[in-house]
Amino acid sequence: MIIVLKPGTKKEEYDHVIDRVKEYGFKPHPIVGEERTVIACVGDERDKTQLHQLESLDYVESVVPILKPFKLASKETKPRSVVKVGNIEIGNSQFVVMAGPCSVETKEQILLSAEQVKKAGAHILRGGAFKPRTSPYSFQGLEEEGLKYMAEAREKTGLPFVTEVIQPGDVALIEKYADMFQIGARNMQNFALLKEVGRAKKPVLLKRGMSSTYKELLMSAEYIMSQGNYNVVLCERGIRTFEDYTRNTFDLTAVPALKELSHLPVIVDPSHGTGVRSLIPPMAKAAIPVGADGLIIEVHPNPEKAFSDGAQSLTPDQFGALMNDLKRYAPLENKHL
Ligand code: PEP
Ligand code: MN
Repeated sequence: MIIVLKPGTKKEEYDHVIDRVKEYGFKPHPIVGEERTVIACVGDERDKTQLHQLESLDYVESVVPILKPFKLASKETKPRSVVKVGNIEIGNSQFVVMAGPCSVETKEQILLSAEQVKKAGAHILRGGAFKPRTSPYSFQGLEEEGLKYMAEAREKTGLPFVTEVIQPGDVALIEKYADMFQIGARNMQNFALLKEVGRAKKPVLLKRGMSSTYKELLMSAEYIMSQGNYNVVLCERGIRTFEDYTRNTFDLTAVPALKELSHLPVIVDPSHGTGVRSLIPPMAKAAIPVGADGLIIEVHPNPEKAFSDGAQSLTPDQFGALMNDLKRYAPLENKHL
């Protein structure tokens, strides 16, 4: 249920509503807008009749149900949201580009990558220190050492960084270093992990599972938000289909569809979405007219020698050329880089 307060509601009146909501067994999630405050109340909907009584208060404009099962992520609670990563805003007029290697491999490799993507105009550095690999014999990541190198890269370039968390026990450690958590496709429904990042303070990049629907992705966002962390960015990264020319089938329909259903920013990952280097620039450019708020892309100083995902990593030169194209395309959708 959503309680809509009238403009000009006083602090004591707001507190009174919050107390009543808790007393009725619901968890209040205030959403403060420019004109008015609404309080999303989440709990067992069978007890919602009591919440309706609050409509009798002068300063309550209305008490209305949220029809979607993803309550806090739903567009019904808010028209749009902006998520801050360091000093970068995702969901506003900037088309935000996150770039860097699949994995943090050595200190030199991540420092050089950071410098190269920064020079090309990227806004956020990406790099995995904890890698969820299909084979237990593949490179698993440098773990905390990798986080330290990324922090050093941030110091040198000023780029905030996003990195993947693969288990709940690592959340506190990663939060000490990173500017944004990444929840990977394989962990989209790891509910213990979602709840743990939901209790953390840093923003979360939530990737769509490779066989998940839009609604399932939004229910996973809801898990994070239900714990109090509302700073979630959704990411389309391709799904499994019968097509085998590409690594995944990159579903750009997800962008406008998710934006119809939710207020959360949406970015895309054409690197994992296609898995084919030549297909990444055209699909990255296509993200702009469908309404994406940005993209995440793999770039490696020497893709041939990459420990993971070399075949889908752009060279720094290819990335530079793509950034120039994106700068020309963004104004068509009233965005800038
Ligand atoms: C990654 O970003 O390197 C990654 C493992 O992505 P995904 O979870 O989308 O496969
Ligand atoms: Mn990768």
